[in-house]
Amino acid sequence: MDRLPRTLAILTLGSNIERERYLPEAIRMLRRHEDIDVREVSQFFESASVGGPDDAPDYYNVALLVCSPLDPEALRHELRLVEENLGRVRTNDPNEPRTIDIDIAYFGDVVEKFDGWELPDPDAITEPHIAIPIAEIARDWIHPVDGRTMGAIAKSVRSSDLRKVRAIKLSEPHVTRAIEDFDSPQDVYAPRFEALVRQQLIELGEQPSREGLERTPLRVAKAFDFLTSGYTTSLEEVVNDAIFDAEGADEMVLVKDIEFYSLCEHHMLPFYGKAAVGYLPKGKIIGLSKVARIVDLFARRLQVQERLTNQIADAVGEVLDPLGVAVVIEGQHFCMMMRGVQKQDSSMVTSAMRGTFRSDPRTRSEFLSFVTK
Ligand code: ZN
Repeated sequence: MDRLPRTLAILTLGSNIERERYLPEAIRMLRRHEDIDVREVSQFFESASVGGPDDAPDYYNVALLVCSPLDPEALRHELRLVEENLGRVRTNDPNEPRTIDIDIAYFGDVVEKFDGWELPDPDAITEPHIAIPIAEIARDWIHPVDGRTMGAIAKSVRSSDLRKVRAIKLSEPHVTRAIEDFDSPQDVYAPRFEALVRQQLIELGEQPSREGLERTPLRVAKAFDFLTSGYTTSLEEVVNDAIFDAEGADEMVLVKDIEFYSLCEHHMLPFYGKAAVGYLPKGKIIGLSKVARIVDLFARRLQVQERLTNQIADAVGEVLDPLGVAVVIEGQHFCMMMRGVQKQDSSMVTSAMRGTFRSDPRTRSEFLSFVTK
């Protein structure tokens, strides 16, 4: 991928469902993407929903200047995957409220019609909620057909449109890159981390400047940001109100075969496997997908399997206050498989039993028989 020409593009994002949460999360996912380098982020702007019912919630809009080796259609595909990841379900209704909407407004100076969309985005020249955020990050960018700058376009829509669009201060760390740097081949994601990876490559006897390694520090920084994202995510964010009252529900709830990937804290090498989580409700239950997200919350840190197991059990206990919680994890550790004793087939099983799962042998064995089934 390194030698492909990379193109500057402008993305526009909008959200009107839980927008304080989804918009920053989308930016975070785009920044972490291996083939998308985010160079500039505009402030958040608020705008009324266009074309939808009068009571449709207002949007937050933001524009991003990115650089990518992908072609327009491949980039659009990646953006769709990010949307899907954030729970967006595309329907035929163009005005439906959405958790996140990510479009390519400009892709270099490409002028082209694709299947169902085109470049540049025609809305970018008529819609204030698109044109104004774009002008903030790329004032001097020239529209490839129209010939005006983004700054001039923003001015024209501002005067002809009465809808209020206001700037919202972005609490995310800003990506600050001077516009003159755009031609530099080097992208920067986490400068200090990348410098350490470069140093590590030298210590290993490598040449960080050789072709295959050129972008390795950047990739490692993005990968580790994701693999350790549990440090910057809270249990409240993960659970996010997906707790339901279930009076009279007294049957064991069990979620098993939850895949997880973690890093051992002793060697920073992966360990991975499957988790089973069970609980006996006391009036409250949680969405099944949230159980998997709780597992990820603690797996995406430097861990030991025993602590991972206990933290998952404690978290389920904390949010549900159930009669009991049980967690069993089976994991395979690369630090054992690749080095040292090299026992490729060995896996490790850990468990945490709380409440009735600890005190009542029948409950415990019921759970364990489910897990091993
Ligand atoms: Zn280890």
